Amino acid sequence: MPPSIIWCRGVDGLHAPRVQVETDLSPGLPRFTLVGLPETEVKEARDRVHAAILNSGFKFPDGRLIVNLAPAELPKESGRYDLPIALGILAVSNQLPASAKERLRTYEFAGELSLSGALQPIRGAFAMALSAGGAGFVLPRASADEAALAGVGEVLGADSLLEVAAWLAGRGELQSGSARAAAQPVVFPDLADLKGQAQARRVLEIAAAGEHSLLMYGPPGSGKSMLAARLPGLMPPLSDAAARESAAVLSLAGRFDPSQFRARPYRAPHATASAVALVGGGSPPRPGEISLATQGILFLDEFPEFDRKVLESLREPLERGEIHIARAARHATFPARFQLVAAMNPCPCGWQGHPNGRCHCTPDKIRQYRSRISGPILDRMDLLIEVPALPAETMAQTGGGEASAEVRARVAAAREKQVARQGMVNARLEAGHVDEYVAMSGQAVQLLQQAAARLDLSARSWHRIMKVARTIADLAGSIGTEKNHLAEALQYRRPFSES
Ligand SMILES: [Zn+2]
Repeated sequence: MPPSIIWCRGVDGLHAPRVQVETDLSPGLPRFTLVGLPETEVKEARDRVHAAILNSGFKFPDGRLIVNLAPAELPKESGRYDLPIALGILAVSNQLPASAKERLRTYEFAGELSLSGALQPIRGAFAMALSAGGAGFVLPRASADEAALAGVGEVLGADSLLEVAAWLAGRGELQSGSARAAAQPVVFPDLADLKGQAQARRVLEIAAAGEHSLLMYGPPGSGKSMLAARLPGLMPPLSDAAARESAAVLSLAGRFDPSQFRARPYRAPHATASAVALVGGGSPPRPGEISLATQGILFLDEFPEFDRKVLESLREPLERGEIHIARAARHATFPARFQLVAAMNPCPCGWQGHPNGRCHCTPDKIRQYRSRISGPILDRMDLLIEVPALPAETMAQTGGGEASAEVRARVAAAREKQVARQGMVNARLEAGHVDEYVAMSGQAVQLLQQAAARLDLSARSWHRIMKVARTIADLAGSIGTEKNHLAEALQYRRPFSES
């Protein structure tokens, strides 16, 4: 019997290169050798496949069995290769009919086996389907539903090794993965539930319209996190391309939920999250929160409490929209096109400037606390606003303000203008294109020059203010960027109040 060859896919960053699973059986003392998997995973894979074959009612062949996974240098997480390894063993031991050959040759297979022979979902099914670009796939059912959303090629789902073997033998059908996404749009918390905070609402609308980064500071209970949680609900659902990118990254981390396809990701990691959890890493490299938030929002509450090194590592992805991870022999690049929304207290105790007078933080302590957010990071925030404590009478009002749906309509109109004009939202305009697309009036230029001299603005902040002004003009339906748009943008760049 010639060796059997079955195709699978590994995951390497966001790519899923083809992996060949070659199985050979020759006479000799019974032995089962697996080549091409990390040492630590070989035994587990062997044990799972062995048990799954027996418990599915097949025979485990006598003789020398060698399974080789190639190419050798790919990162290989063992689970996904269980199904192709088991099928290779069934093929070389003549437990599949000759008619199975055609399907074994033309489809790709992936899935982890339980000892009973049931198929368990694998990570990265969506990314695999995107890379395969049209090849037929046989996957565990939940993974097939996920992969079907990629909309490329035929994707079949199965529950067990036995079911796959029956289908290969022409004795049963496998169901196509069902693209069940977007049956109903994901519902985010609504602005209508919030009282007061007129300025913060306005700024949230601007942030949604231009995808601008935002830092809110104010005492506990002023509603900073509630405001942030309402941001994704102010934006239109993701485009096809954006939804696919987001799904591919989430799927790599085993976090993709097909019912959330097209919903803007909203990630809110805790300040104690490790650098690896936030930025990504590990071996093989996995995406971190900044990548899981790609095409969506990364909300960092208690901003100064995050590890300083972690905050600094946000600079590169904020500029480039991706993160490059190098760990020992492995490199990976993941998208990290997130909108940063951060919140912080004004001082270590949180109550600085609050009428309750509870704050006794010394000016030194306050300065120290705020300096945990470095200048370069502050420089990358487009909008910086104070969210004050609400007066008692506002808290007592019943009914909030305008609902998210009304704001969303204005935001959508403003975003359409941006895309029609320059092919992207304002926050993503690169330095070389800012002057051309922002098109400020003479008076606006004059105002910006005065402000730059007064506030000692860096070139980077200068551009950021221009982009925010452009978004304000888009929300107002104005063709040019006028002085009043720029004046409003400048209001949201005030340094922390010293009160
Ligand atoms: Zn304080």
